[in-house]
Amino acid sequence: MKLITLNKDPNIKIDNKLTYFLNPDYVYIPIFKNKLKVKQNEYVCKGDVLFLNNFSVLAPISGIIYGISTCNINNHQEKCLVIKNDFREKRRVIKHKTKQKLTIDSLLSTLEEYNQKHLLSIFKNIKIIDNLVISIIDDEPYNHNCIMLMKENVKEVLDMIDELSILYNTLSSTIVVKECESNIIEECLNTIGTYPNIKISLVDDLYLLERKDFLLEHLKYDSSKTLYLNIKDILDLAALLINREVNLEKYLTISGEGVMGQVLRVKKYSNAYEVISKNIKVPTDAIYFINGVMSGYVGSIQDLIITDDVNCINIMKKRKNIADECFNCGKCSEICPVKINPIKCMWKQKSDKRCLNCGLCNYICPVYLDLKAYVRGDKK
Ligand code: SF4
Ligand code: SF4
Repeated sequence: MKLITLNKDPNIKIDNKLTYFLNPDYVYIPIFKNKLKVKQNEYVCKGDVLFLNNFSVLAPISGIIYGISTCNINNHQEKCLVIKNDFREKRRVIKHKTKQKLTIDSLLSTLEEYNQKHLLSIFKNIKIIDNLVISIIDDEPYNHNCIMLMKENVKEVLDMIDELSILYNTLSSTIVVKECESNIIEECLNTIGTYPNIKISLVDDLYLLERKDFLLEHLKYDSSKTLYLNIKDILDLAALLINREVNLEKYLTISGEGVMGQVLRVKKYSNAYEVISKNIKVPTDAIYFINGVMSGYVGSIQDLIITDDVNCINIMKKRKNIADECFNCGKCSEICPVKINPIKCMWKQKSDKRCLNCGLCNYICPVYLDLKAYVRGDKK
């Protein structure tokens, strides 16, 4: 499949400096099927375990257990445990960073202890590795999380890559960055230069290179002998192996039309409305694309919670003088890489081709119809 370059709006800009918003009034932690380990009005410290037998969800702030509320988690209403911030960032035990010798067994047992399903699925299946590939690529056109994570954590990232490459005895370790972001990488070059075994590969700004299969094919690496991780995986590993803790904060890009885009470092489980209203001046008649204009969906930010799965929010202006329904411009079927006609799916005709869920049809549609949801059959 031929990968394409997206036409991006040059007016959508994102500040190169990281913004911090680490003092939300409340955090909202989805309960799902977990059993609570804490009670209402109980005091919790930052880093405390909140659910029985689950060390993957920790309190990101210190404060009082306020109660339970229903919030939007990944476009579903879920019950959430609410913690009211006391802004003291109090910890029960001050953890000293200890550097233990990393072995494959210790890595796997740490991932199991902290219930890290995604990382376990990668590391449990490793056999022989020739290459270690670290992706610093965001496919979403107005999401800068990866490049900001690299810029702000360069030493931690390089140390972790070095450790993994020694552990698995790899022949090469490569950080992959889009050429259009190379100016940010230049800021890190002095540090990168002190790690002679790690090289940087610049790739064109082609859509879908964030996906492992497309990237490895593009770089001509044998996927059966390559360990592929993205920068978030690397930093999650570093937090677990060095700090013995899951990350309690995350990066979130908020950008769009008529706003000065920012990458924010926020507490996990903050409320999106609080984050946006305290940091960004939003134009009236804005539409919010949760997780971006390509792979996201249009939704409200009022009760949206910033979980691990929410990475960016694009604020777009409602198109004036265009009706909210399809006017048969044909752009969606023209751009689809696998030649699906999304309009037919809106007419309830199933496509016999496999949708890549790439979001190009959504991105190109002038009236913002969620076409991939029709193609997937999620919308009737
Ligand atoms: S999301 Fe599916 S239907 Fe839409 S452009 Fe991509 S492959 Fe085609
Ligand atoms: S891009 Fe949107 S408006 Fe154009 S044909 Fe497809 S659904 Fe209709």
